[in-house]
Amino acid sequence: MGETKYIFVTGGVASSLGKGIMSSSIGKLLQARGYNVTIQKFDPYINIDPGTLNPYEHGECYVTIDGHEADLDLGHYERFLSIETTKANNITTGRIYKSVIDKERRGDFLGKTVQVVPHITDEIKRNIKLLGNKYKFDFVITEIGGTVGDIESLPYLESIRQLKWELGQNALCVHLTYVPFLSAAQELKTKPTQHSVKELQSLGVQADVLVLRSEHELSANLRKKVALFCNVEEDAVVQSVDVPTIYEVPLKMQEQNLDKTILRKMGLPIGPDPELKPWKSFLDRRAKATEVVTIGLVGKYVELQDAYKSILESLLQAATYNDRKIKIDYIQSEDITPENVEEKLSKVDGVVICPGFGSRGVEGKFVAAKYTREHDIPTFGICLGMQCMAIEFARNVLGYQDANSTEMNEKTKHNVIDIMEEQKSITNMGGTMRLGAYECVISKGSKAFDIYGKEHIQERHRHRYEFNNSYREEYEKNGMKCVGVNPESDLIEIVEIPTLKWYIGAQFHPEYRSTVLNPHPLFLSFIKAAINK
Ligand code: GLN
Repeated sequence: MGETKYIFVTGGVASSLGKGIMSSSIGKLLQARGYNVTIQKFDPYINIDPGTLNPYEHGECYVTIDGHEADLDLGHYERFLSIETTKANNITTGRIYKSVIDKERRGDFLGKTVQVVPHITDEIKRNIKLLGNKYKFDFVITEIGGTVGDIESLPYLESIRQLKWELGQNALCVHLTYVPFLSAAQELKTKPTQHSVKELQSLGVQADVLVLRSEHELSANLRKKVALFCNVEEDAVVQSVDVPTIYEVPLKMQEQNLDKTILRKMGLPIGPDPELKPWKSFLDRRAKATEVVTIGLVGKYVELQDAYKSILESLLQAATYNDRKIKIDYIQSEDITPENVEEKLSKVDGVVICPGFGSRGVEGKFVAAKYTREHDIPTFGICLGMQCMAIEFARNVLGYQDANSTEMNEKTKHNVIDIMEEQKSITNMGGTMRLGAYECVISKGSKAFDIYGKEHIQERHRHRYEFNNSYREEYEKNGMKCVGVNPESDLIEIVEIPTLKWYIGAQFHPEYRSTVLNPHPLFLSFIKAAINK
């Protein structure tokens, strides 16, 4: 296509308007027209990455193939576009400053005073253009975290101002705002939108496209008014009203010609509308499914759905491809006891034992794993969930009552889950984990092999502790098989109990690889087993 085009997605009025979904939807529509698209997220906080953030602060930590602990919006980008993102797709203010300060210490600035403008903004601009320059994407969509008006967003908006000036038609700003409905007045209000566009203008940035989020349909007149007050063309003011699923947003944007408006404004040929057939067929199946499959999600963040975002999306995708509606039963693992486990788990069709760190709620996960093993309820253990399956098995089948992970009890005699030798010396948080994609070889004849249909797979990891190989033989003799192994390190990646209907634990996170058009085989098979329970 020639030069890379840069689209910036900013937000005003309130947070949580769905900038990630909007960025993904725009990306989806451009990709469907044959363009090579990537999306990146720039977060204004000072943490180097979200890896050390508590899920209560920022939801799930997503992991890219190259082992970057990323913002959960990267999960949306991958699920919508079936692309793979990397560390370069997620930048924080912390990383920008670190890189500038490192340069300063090396003497790269030759005695100059180092300032927010131009040094921080130059570093932001360099990072915005990195993927375009390196991989020659046709479109690089950059989502700016936070809300216009935040102090911490200022250097990003200044960088956008400069880039729009430098790149002309090759840069465009999509601003997402909110139009509230005041029930006392029975009216939709545009003033907050006008204010947030003015705030952007005061920083020298004119929005080219406005997406108005609202809980109600917006009239043509209202949009006309916004266009007039905000210096935005009428056809570039679109609405984004709540829809039953985020995956409908691209279609809603297509209906309003958002992709065409963007192409026209960037001076690109328009051509026919893409059909989005597989996407629509996914939505059709989702809408038509009437029968329900109920999955119990055993975790400690049940009140916080963002903490398990990718797992929930993977389950929804898998249920849809099995023509079922998904119902999630959130089960707080801290509350599970041997006395109440039956009441909590006997009604679900399948159980996911969730990933996690630390000992809160872990004993309940052991109880759940025991119950589902003994009652042959399809069970999927993910990362810590897999470790819990192994620990429970050691306690109740191998007879080691004190079996544990050294994460939970450093002094356990039966450390069936333990830290890798090479990692014991590392103390820097964020430096101690096995992160990103690793190879795994699956044993022929296993359930996992049937599910994947191949021997060599790659899956993404995020953990410190590992299955302790010195117990492997004992497990296998007693019925829990180690059927997925990393070929270099010999670390155990998948365990299963082949005599049960579906009892599989994965040390990796398959949920990071499940997309709308390429649902993950493990989730598909797990849901199928749950349906047949
Ligand atoms: N806490 C466990 C570990 O560090 C599992 C991590 C996870 O579930 N992501 O190994």
